[in-house]
Amino acid sequence: MAYLHFARTVLASLFQKPATTSYPVTPREYPDKTRGKVAIEIDDCIYCGMCMRKCPADAITVDRAQKTWTINPFSCVQCACCVDNCPKKCLHMEVQYTAPAPVKTEEVFHARVPDHSEDRSDRDG
Ligand code: SF4
Ligand code: SF4
Repeated sequence: MAYLHFARTVLASLFQKPATTSYPVTPREYPDKTRGKVAIEIDDCIYCGMCMRKCPADAITVDRAQKTWTINPFSCVQCACCVDNCPKKCLHMEVQYTAPAPVKTEEVFHARVPDHSEDRSDRDG
């Protein structure tokens, strides 16, 4: 009886669409509202530290003196609290997840140093 049930299941499966995608050959499509990972437009950040203070997982470190914004994506619980509280709206949740890694590394973002080379060439030339 069990064999009959098994054979019926196998035959039915042969004519059905696969229940899974052939990842990674076919990339996964996430819904729009997926809270994958936090991303920053670092040039808009004013290093106020609000995101760091609001983060329940202590995943963000803001260094105003060094002008760095650091996140430990492996500590982040994707609550989006930092995104909701950023006064400059320079944080958003990306629709993709942090890639797995053998060690838990932090991501450090630095303020862009202004390029004055054009000003200098105008002055020199
Ligand atoms: S809350 Fe926004 S502006 Fe303030 S430090 Fe965080 S990312 Fe930068
Ligand atoms: S999404 Fe939540 S846990 Fe992740 S960094 Fe922002 S506040 Fe922290």
